[in-house]
Amino acid sequence: MGLIGLILRNMEASLTARDRVGIQDFVLLDNYTSESAFLDNLRKRSHENLIYTYIGTLLVSVNPYKELDIYSKKQMDTYMGVNFFELPPHIYALADNVFRTMQSEYNNHFILISGESGAGKTEASKKILQFYAVSCPSTKLLNNVRDRLLLSNPVLEAFGNAKTLKNDNSSRFGKYMDIQFDHQGGAVGGHILSYLLEKSRVVHQNHGERNFHIFYQLVEGGEEDLLRWLGLERNCQHYRYLVQGDCAKVSSINDKSDWKMVRKALSVIEFSESDIENLFAIIASVLHLGNVKFEADVRGYASLNNNQEMHWLLGIPTQVLQQGLTHRKIEAKTEEVLSPFSVDHAVYARDALAKAIYGRTFNWLVNKINESLANKDSSRKTVIGLLDIYGFEVFNVNSFEQFCINYCNEKLQQLFIQLTLKSEQEEYEMEGIEWEPVPYFNNKIICDLVEEKHRGIIALLDEECLRPGEATDLTLLEKMEEEIGGHPHFVTHKLADKKTRKTLERGDFRLLHYAGEVTYCVVGFLDKNNDLLYRNGKEVISFNFYCKKQVVTQFKSSLVGLTEILMSKEPWYVRCIKPNEAKQPGRFDDVLVRHQVKYLGLMEHLRVRRAGFAYRRKYDIFLQRYKPLCPDTWPNWRGTAAEGVQRLIKHLGYKPDEYKMGRTKIFIRHPRTLFATEDAFQIC
Ligand code: ADP
Ligand code: MG
Repeated sequence: MGLIGLILRNMEASLTARDRVGIQDFVLLDNYTSESAFLDNLRKRSHENLIYTYIGTLLVSVNPYKELDIYSKKQMDTYMGVNFFELPPHIYALADNVFRTMQSEYNNHFILISGESGAGKTEASKKILQFYAVSCPSTKLLNNVRDRLLLSNPVLEAFGNAKTLKNDNSSRFGKYMDIQFDHQGGAVGGHILSYLLEKSRVVHQNHGERNFHIFYQLVEGGEEDLLRWLGLERNCQHYRYLVQGDCAKVSSINDKSDWKMVRKALSVIEFSESDIENLFAIIASVLHLGNVKFEADVRGYASLNNNQEMHWLLGIPTQVLQQGLTHRKIEAKTEEVLSPFSVDHAVYARDALAKAIYGRTFNWLVNKINESLANKDSSRKTVIGLLDIYGFEVFNVNSFEQFCINYCNEKLQQLFIQLTLKSEQEEYEMEGIEWEPVPYFNNKIICDLVEEKHRGIIALLDEECLRPGEATDLTLLEKMEEEIGGHPHFVTHKLADKKTRKTLERGDFRLLHYAGEVTYCVVGFLDKNNDLLYRNGKEVISFNFYCKKQVVTQFKSSLVGLTEILMSKEPWYVRCIKPNEAKQPGRFDDVLVRHQVKYLGLMEHLRVRRAGFAYRRKYDIFLQRYKPLCPDTWPNWRGTAAEGVQRLIKHLGYKPDEYKMGRTKIFIRHPRTLFATEDAFQIC
């Protein structure tokens, strides 16, 4: 253990220091069932800038909303290869522990980073990636992979992140990234899966929000020649798709320097110059498309005259595009008929096209990055997966996007419950140790409400989407009322009692999520789920895909796929907490934090940890490390490792309720027992 760690731990041992800085592992809290004690500890620590605290091996992180000097190379070195509990809590300690466990047990792991929007998930995942990039053994070849892994981040963030009311750099897609390691622990490749990009942002932003960063980066930072070639003006105000939120400029964001970073990253990831040109031509096309205006002709149909923007669009003959945006192709028996759009319809078709173009481009980008990260060598590798997925979201008005995001969070909570309980229980059972399971609120009931076959919300939504012309958002609402009206986690204006009814509009439905109530406005659900692109719209961009599946059903199957990926790996958790809504350093809003502590399941997790044993070590590893502490086991112990450990702890004076002997491991109830042993080891 490093000197700093020793000093810190001694500090913590002294009561006055503990009063000030709290304790570094909630498992050590005397009053561990009290939520207030939990909050006190978190508050104390975050006021001292100690943003990390453990619950056993789970890491709780509180967003400091300011740069802290704790992520230097020196810090990384301090944490590299040091036992988890020997230093103050840190994201590097977790990353290092996962890495070393993977190396010694030669199996696959994943780190699930959760928390609400703006809590610090993406920052945490970046810190972990940086730690691996710096700490893993490297060669010239591996440095290449490392740079690409690191630089995939700014690219994906440019295209997939945006300023929202909650976070100036909010990820608007879910991301799962595998980092592959070879036998020696070198990072040799990676693979990214992306989930449900929020495409609607391309054409519409709420007040105070922006479109995806890349648009502003291109307009603000793009070189003169490039802008001229793309027919763009250096003025965000000029583009309809960029100004709806009325905040093109954000003080915390430097679009110009971000542009440079993205350009550099694209070349490192080996995008060819022509790839890059095409990419920005498409991005520029989306901006031009947004400025296309329609007028009503004498018959009231949409027409599109004198549109300069058309010239810059996608290299498609103006004629084709014009027709594509103002007419719908209908197949009638043997012939195709063109039916003209109203202006509203044309606007809708234009926006649908813009969303489709952007969505496809994003997928293409992820594929390109994956090609560049792919490891061609077929020898067996171990993997650490990083899951940074959108957190639970509640706005004043919640729509289809929030419904999908919050459903995803329900699924992940379900996974957490299964894995936490499952792994704990299995381990105790395997080791022959008695244990009483801790009761949890099981959110399976809400997952079922959403995804059950035939009567789940998703099934009902898809069903309505298959009745074009007849179904509307309101018929969906009625159907839900009929089918699931009695469900304890579902309520609408019509179903509510008098008091609740006052808080609901007629077009609303409310779900009682595990994390709290969310009221969804049903308007737009069908449309967004259909993600309709008129057929000639598809022809315009030569998309020949007729995907039968609705958006939410696709999402559901990708979540099932994700769950399978995760279930086959060892789980680790980072739980991120947002201390205030104002994005300010030094402010700790008790009500807000208490709510997150509750829904992140931290109290229950702590109880599981306390009911069981905080730490466990294989007998041989424990003996090997601590045998100098006992004359009987030092320098060599001739019996079995278990007997050696028994002798050793007797000598150290462990009390019977402090530990249990399993089949292959010693289980220690409190970390302080292990800490005391570790201290004795340091001194000897
Ligand atoms: P999330 O991904 O959970 O929505 P982010 O990771 O994007 O949230 O964090 C939001 C903002 O909070 C960041 O842009 C950064 O300003 C701040 N932040 C988060 N984590 C840290 C940290 N460890 N240190 C300093 N600032 C942080
Ligand atoms: Mg994020």
